[in-house]
Amino acid sequence: MTDRELFIQAQDAMQYAYAPYSRYSVGAAVLTGTGEIFRGANIENASYGATLCAERVAISSAVFAGHKDDLIAIAICASSGEAVYPCGICRQFLFEFGADIRVITGKTVEALEIFPISELLPNGFRLENK
Ligand SMILES: [Zn+2]
Repeated sequence: MTDRELFIQAQDAMQYAYAPYSRYSVGAAVLTGTGEIFRGANIENASYGATLCAERVAISSAVFAGHKDDLIAIAICASSGEAVYPCGICRQFLFEFGADIRVITGKTVEALEIFPISELLPNGFRLENK
């Protein structure tokens, strides 16, 4: 699975977004060490604070399937056609599962930007007993 292929998976996942309020759809695709892909899209709510970002939907799906220790990368894309970067909550959510997880974003599949999550979230929070 190349970065481009993962980004295309994120683009495809965007169609499942539930975004009646913002009309801003986001798709995400997580790659695991076994080569499996878990996808997600944003799910908004009339109570805005209950909204879930695409990244957390995809990561939750992967973790629930047993992939808490082998998340390799997450690709993200948005309906705006601009490169989209994870919000602060999603950066912390991702960091929980590994400081080296790669975040892949970009305006198009030909212009990808790639960052380790530790670069997007320096000094991410960890409980000492984990
Ligand atoms: Zn987010």
